[in-house]
Amino acid sequence: MKLAWIQKHTLVDYPGKVACVVFTQGCNFRCHFCHNPECVLPEKMMLLQNDMIPEENFFTFLESRKWFLDGVSISGGEPTLQSGLYDFAKKVKEMGFAVKLDTNGRDRQIVRRMVDDGILDYVAVDLKHALPSYYKAVGIEQTKEFYHSYEKLLQFLLEGNVDYEYRSTVAKWLHTADDIEAMAYYIRGAKNYYLQNYVGGNTLDPDFGGESFTDDELFEFQKIASKYVKNIGIRN
Ligand code: SF4
Repeated sequence: MKLAWIQKHTLVDYPGKVACVVFTQGCNFRCHFCHNPECVLPEKMMLLQNDMIPEENFFTFLESRKWFLDGVSISGGEPTLQSGLYDFAKKVKEMGFAVKLDTNGRDRQIVRRMVDDGILDYVAVDLKHALPSYYKAVGIEQTKEFYHSYEKLLQFLLEGNVDYEYRSTVAKWLHTADDIEAMAYYIRGAKNYYLQNYVGGNTLDPDFGGESFTDDELFEFQKIASKYVKNIGIRN
């Protein structure tokens, strides 16, 4: 596992749990608004090479926080790119922590296997844009195979095999009300959908011109999306 850094505790990342977040390196997308370019762009990833966290150090850290943490969120980058993901998450689970996986939906088969084997307790899946214009958010055209697999992951989650959420980082000039409606319609019947307001800062694309939405705009989006998904949360 390529572990770039750890957020030692959070009350908001893993719903209902006190968790830490571990960030893996490498991603198949190039989202313009991404705040973790050090986990995505090879030239930036190189800069962290001397500071990568050995797995044994991570597990030592976890052991020392058993009294305090309920869960571990495995994030990135895109964690399903890591060949050691299954064993890593299994070990975390065996230590007694709840395990959450953040994924952009790249590899439904590993997600399914980890759920079927009782390793994952929670899956958070990114929904980046309305499907016909997905590239506008992720920076790379996706293949038919990706969409096919992404659809299958949605079906799997809708079957209620594991707790899950869909979430979209939404930004002005990138998403419109129609896009929000298209995204919510796509995951209609899903359990939870979070709209995460874009916050400016260090972005993968330095020319990204997106801006945060106002509270009123977000409430309007919430109203639109709630036609299709029962629980719409806003993360601002
Ligand atoms: S925001 Fe996009 S580019 Fe950044 S880590 Fe997530 S999926 Fe990869």
